[in-house]
Amino acid sequence: MALIELTGISKTYNPDSNVPVHALNNVSLSIEPGEFVAIMGPSGSGKSTLLAILGLLDKLDTGQYKLLDKDITNFPENSITHLRNKFFGFVFQMFNLLPRLNVTENAMLPFIYANQTSSHDRERVVNVIKQVGLGARLHHRPNQLSGGEQQRVAVARAVANQPLVVLADEPTGNLDSKSTAEIITLLTELNRQGKTIIMVTHEHELTECARRVITLRDGRIESDHNKEKPQKFDLPLVSLEKKQHEKLFTLARIGNYCHEAILSLFHNKLRSFLSTLGVLIGVAAVIAMLAMGTGAKMQVEERLSALGTNLLMVRTSRSHGGIALGASAVTRFNFADMKAIEKIGSVEYVVPYVGGRAQVVYQSENWNTSVLGVGANYQHVRDAVPDQGRFFTESEVNTRAKVVVLGKEVADELFGEQNPVGKFVRVNRVSFKVIGVFPEKGVTGWSNFDDQIIMPVTTAMYRLLGLDYISYFDIQVKDTASMPLVQEEIVETISQLHRLSANQQESIDVRNLAEIQEAAGEMMQALSLLLGAIAAVSLLVGGIGIMNIMLVMVMERTHEIGLRKALGAKRSDIMVQFLIETVLICVLGGVFGIMLGSLIAIAMSMFAGWATVVSFGSIVLAFTFSVMVGLVFGLWPAWRAAKLLPIEALRYE
Ligand code: ADP
Repeated sequence: MALIELTGISKTYNPDSNVPVHALNNVSLSIEPGEFVAIMGPSGSGKSTLLAILGLLDKLDTGQYKLLDKDITNFPENSITHLRNKFFGFVFQMFNLLPRLNVTENAMLPFIYANQTSSHDRERVVNVIKQVGLGARLHHRPNQLSGGEQQRVAVARAVANQPLVVLADEPTGNLDSKSTAEIITLLTELNRQGKTIIMVTHEHELTECARRVITLRDGRIESDHNKEKPQKFDLPLVSLEKKQHEKLFTLARIGNYCHEAILSLFHNKLRSFLSTLGVLIGVAAVIAMLAMGTGAKMQVEERLSALGTNLLMVRTSRSHGGIALGASAVTRFNFADMKAIEKIGSVEYVVPYVGGRAQVVYQSENWNTSVLGVGANYQHVRDAVPDQGRFFTESEVNTRAKVVVLGKEVADELFGEQNPVGKFVRVNRVSFKVIGVFPEKGVTGWSNFDDQIIMPVTTAMYRLLGLDYISYFDIQVKDTASMPLVQEEIVETISQLHRLSANQQESIDVRNLAEIQEAAGEMMQALSLLLGAIAAVSLLVGGIGIMNIMLVMVMERTHEIGLRKALGAKRSDIMVQFLIETVLICVLGGVFGIMLGSLIAIAMSMFAGWATVVSFGSIVLAFTFSVMVGLVFGLWPAWRAAKLLPIEALRYE
């Protein structure tokens, strides 16, 4: 039984072009076990093509390939890869060692793709390296070795896994005569031990060691000269079929990929740093922006929920915020409305509001702030208790007393360290007695509770702002259940008092705080989404950057991919290896991005006073997102790399 039997093999490059190259033309050839075949011929005669086809590195156009009497011409790619890994060892002209791996690791590669990584396998590899005379160089990298030594490592890699055939393409083409002699001696010794060797060479002297010399010309066999028959070697009884339940990825293989990914990242430090930076900035932005959004949302919710859910706000549709636009409103509220609403059964408190801006002066200090005029029960409804002094009373409201409670910021601006209570300030040139100061409340959305002063509504209307109407009311209802009823009754009461038509009634806007909370919640949600989306765009840009770098890397490493495939790496191996590299970059970027983003969030709340909350959810989100970026943007380059034929990749310059 022949070891390899080729029948009528043809291979044409660029078949569809004007000048198709018939590299092999109807070649038939049979290789017996134990042979040492030299393939000779002028340059371009098809030697390398024949060797690539023999070694299952390339596809043939027509003809039949029988390995150990079994037709494997149409075997699927993965089975072919398996056969290549198991039965063939390769020695190339350019040595083709991986520069980042040491001698042992290089020689181990075929074992890794065969899932043989036990200490016993390692020992075997080390023994073979010792046999080729490099026992003292086990942990050297290829660039620390001479050309001859590198080629000996390549021979060790080719034979360590005990293949049936060793294929060598101009193995001494790059070596001096001394190293050439060493390699030829090695190959001869291997052949003597029973290994089948097929070697392409154009040097006649080298054919002396061969028992059979095949000469090619223009893609055909010109001569096939058998100097001596090989001794009879029994072929091992091997099965060409793959073991059915072979694991796709063992832990050792994945570990090896991670190890190599880390080596590769360190090897290209600047490139790794730049691509990591892209993800890092994206993730940091996501974390910081989400932290801001969540912080703002929580603060608003907190403030609103402090108000309680049994609050109604009554406005005319033309009055907004605290600023009175009453002049153009259909309805203006007055104290008669207030009295009438107070009489409604379930109403507990009615708080009237007016607002404006004023200049507040204390001695030489001057501050422009907003003025809020409210009823005395404001303090109950809004839970506004001064921490210094007191709030004003009902009777002060009735007598339009010139008293004022200051927000914390106003007090600080005007009085600094002094206690303002009992002092007199001028508000728009009217003298007011400070009776209290509110504790610090902070900023919610657009309103700053600390930068305002609060006085009796009557004082604000008649003495300060010159208004004769109330802008809006807050109404506290005794129980939440009766709110819809109260809402209706309020509209009715006001309509009656003002004799409003059904049409005009619509201008009375009674809102339930729960609704407002919901609306504010939705708005804040939208805000955080928007912030998150902006950040996501930067992550996307980072991802595209990574894809770029990965594509360049794949191109740079096409040769390496070819070698790995030649040694038995399947598509999935190549894909996983490149994906691990990108995901690693993204995970690194993600981890540092989370740290940076959290630092930014903390810095913002410390130095700018913004509420920020780095939620666990946002960390998980950012991290997942960055890993996804790695997977998605790494996938295409990895896929491109994986689908190459080994010989195409090996020839890629
Ligand atoms: P040798 O090894 O004898 O020098 P090759 O087998 O490398 O010859 O090449 C045989 C012929 O096929 C040459 O004419 C070469 O130019 C051509 N050839 C080899 N590889 C390719 C390829 N990938 N694309 C197109 N032509 C190729």
